Amino acid sequence: MNSLSPIPFNDLSRTPEELLVRIQSAASKVISSGWFVMGPEHNALESELAEYVGAAHAINVANGTDALQLALAAVGVKAGDLVVTVANAGGYTSIATRLLGAIPAYCDVDKATHLMSAATLRACLENVSTTPKAIVATHLYGALAPISEISAVAEEYGIPLVEDCAQSLGASISGRRGGSLADIATTSFYPTKNLGAVGDAGAVFTNNEEYGLNVKTMRQYGWSGKYNMEFTGGQNSRLDELQAAVLRIKLPLLDGWNQRRRDIHSRYESASNGRVEFVNSSNESFVGHLAVVTSPRREELQDFFASKGIKTEIHYPIPDHVQKLPAPFERAQDLSVTERLATEIFSLPLFPELTDTEVDRICQVLSELP
Ligand SMILES: *Cc1c(COP(=O)(O)O)cnc(C)c1O
Repeated sequence: MNSLSPIPFNDLSRTPEELLVRIQSAASKVISSGWFVMGPEHNALESELAEYVGAAHAINVANGTDALQLALAAVGVKAGDLVVTVANAGGYTSIATRLLGAIPAYCDVDKATHLMSAATLRACLENVSTTPKAIVATHLYGALAPISEISAVAEEYGIPLVEDCAQSLGASISGRRGGSLADIATTSFYPTKNLGAVGDAGAVFTNNEEYGLNVKTMRQYGWSGKYNMEFTGGQNSRLDELQAAVLRIKLPLLDGWNQRRRDIHSRYESASNGRVEFVNSSNESFVGHLAVVTSPRREELQDFFASKGIKTEIHYPIPDHVQKLPAPFERAQDLSVTERLATEIFSLPLFPELTDTEVDRICQVLSELP
């Protein structure tokens, strides 16, 4: 019976007992302390995140979408400006862009990596109606986009580059972590991310003093100091002490969890033996946020997994430019790769608390795919 119990896509209630006790005790300390917002836990987390990522500044904010919005505003994006982004990454950059009154200009993705590449970016920039004010490269599924090549193109056009690390925190290339590789970077600590809070949370990283100061002032009403409204773009996007305390406990465990994700992913890859195509290989720079596969027979395969009690999902089924939302965007180039991939991708369960028995069962199904 046990071997047939359903395998969930994710299960946030599987926190190991020892870790749960530490989290509960930290939460309880915060509640007794009477300091609930932007206090000592918050400030310590900022230092620890900056050190982890290898950026001069880490600025905690309320969530990953605010992080994107504030990062875009910090580099100078204003109403009516264009922001280049991909259309296959869940729509968060489109939302953040529109919150500023700016307009997403969609760039196609590379068909092998599902990420922005220097070539797709260049093709997009050659066709946009006006020079964009920012480019957002999303490190999707746990893999870093080819950031130095993308960066070279962005520099050539003089456009600030933002990295979205929400799905790839901890991923590194040549010893440098994503989040430190562009002008400014963002992340989310939504509970299902590789580093997740017990609620909403996010952060912005930068080595640029001016951008960092912009985000710091904007996240708290545009204040220069208490009750002094001096800067435009102000809002309330603070992080609370409870989330900061939890994230401080979990941050030192992130690399271990990412390794566990990579190991599971690598077992899937071997078991499948080419029956489905994995978008990513378990290389060093991949932190296994999602195990995404492609197949022209998606529905049949998802049904097969379902018949074995294994939950699968699609990340993401509807590209941004195909959404019903009646909002302006610029289609700077043909988006046929993005459109085709959206019909072929699906994701297998991939989280560190999957048991070895569950991983074995998923591997077994991968080795029997019709
Ligand atoms: C989750 C996510 C976000 C948004 O984060 P929230 O904290 O949910 O606002 C942004 N970008 C990517 C790539 C994400 O996966």
